Amino acid sequence: MSSVLIIGAGGVGGVVTHKCTQVPEVFSEIVLASRTLEKCERIKGQLSKPIRTAQVDADRTEEVIALIRKFSPNLVINVALPYQDLTIMEACLATGVHYLDTANYEPPEMATFSYKWQWDFHDRFQKRGIMALLGCGFDPGVVNVYCAYAWHHFDEIHTIDIMDCNAGSHGHPFATNFNPEINIREVTQRGKYYEEGQWIETDPLAVHKTFDFPQIGPREMYLMYHEELESLVKFIPGIKRMRFWMTFSEAYLTHLRVLENVGMTRIDPVRYQGMDIVPLQFLKALLPDPGSLGVNYTGKTNIGCLIEGIKDGKPRKYYVYNVCDHAECYREVKAQAISYTTGVPAMLGAKLMLTGVWKGEGVFNIEQLDPDPFMAQIGQYGLPWTEVFY
Ligand code: NDP
Repeated sequence: MSSVLIIGAGGVGGVVTHKCTQVPEVFSEIVLASRTLEKCERIKGQLSKPIRTAQVDADRTEEVIALIRKFSPNLVINVALPYQDLTIMEACLATGVHYLDTANYEPPEMATFSYKWQWDFHDRFQKRGIMALLGCGFDPGVVNVYCAYAWHHFDEIHTIDIMDCNAGSHGHPFATNFNPEINIREVTQRGKYYEEGQWIETDPLAVHKTFDFPQIGPREMYLMYHEELESLVKFIPGIKRMRFWMTFSEAYLTHLRVLENVGMTRIDPVRYQGMDIVPLQFLKALLPDPGSLGVNYTGKTNIGCLIEGIKDGKPRKYYVYNVCDHAECYREVKAQAISYTTGVPAMLGAKLMLTGVWKGEGVFNIEQLDPDPFMAQIGQYGLPWTEVFY
């Protein structure tokens, strides 16, 4: 029986909270805290089990420390924004509480998508005897577990292609499936992949090809840099090439091109009528809230890893993936599939930590832990996986 503090009441926070209430034998006490208390209350109103709620500004370490002292959780699940990762980690260190998140720390003033700052906490977490689990969503998250699990089928892993396809339709001309600021920062940065010991850069979304996604069909996918490449290159020994791909519709890319060309995706402040305005933050205020997209969302996502290497002296190709249906997610937890595929693994990672199945002292990426208990349970919580050998 454990108590958990969830910080962030957005699309993902809603799913994590719903899912934790479905596992009362582990999460006996749940607190949901966020910057806007009403958002916590709205989620609380959707649940059949009681939870407690609180207001917090997680940019302020002292506020998070006070919140942790008030509720004494065993673990903090951080599903606020990447900007809050370090303040929440500091608060966990000050109070001796385990930590889990789904996205790497981002400094507000530049897009980096690097684990550097969080890896720097390793020695302090180790000394304090507590565990931080980084990137426990879907990508990063489940895809990292897929890669670790692939060692059951390979003696050598040579190449990994992580492929993220969202073939859903939300009915808006332009919207992002998770926080617009983070999503657009990610998509507009230069592409980058790993090959033979080097990082190779490309122009943004310049490299693309078609892939025939099971249960969806052929879709155009674009090479991007994504944070899990950094940790997987470090923790999958012998890897020769690692790439990340995401599908986009023509309409999405056209809107994005226009927004970029007119300067609306800039993250540096612009002086306007005596005020400093960050164009991307203003754009976020205009776009639909990702948490509101679920209601009319139809179609499916398919996210997985295509892996090549050697088994028993012979070349082998292996594809492992999950398919998730937006409308089914909405029926279950009032969220679309992108929030769902992030929130479910966060709940399961927390469960494995709280039950002592995953344990350690220090800062860990998910592929460093035993993938088997995670793969054995993730299907029962709503994200079944399929594997194909070629
Ligand atoms: P949302 O924007 O929907 O929600 C973020 C929530 O965090 C909001 O409720 C927001 O509050 C709250 N918040 C923001 N700043 C603070 C603060 N200073 N203190 C307290 N609360 C704060 O985002 P999502 O739910 O879509 O995403 C949540 C996280 O999940 C992000 O880090 C995102 O990058 C990550 N993610 C990871 C994925 C993966 O597969 N690994 C995929 C998708 C998302 P308010 O409402 O007041 O603004």
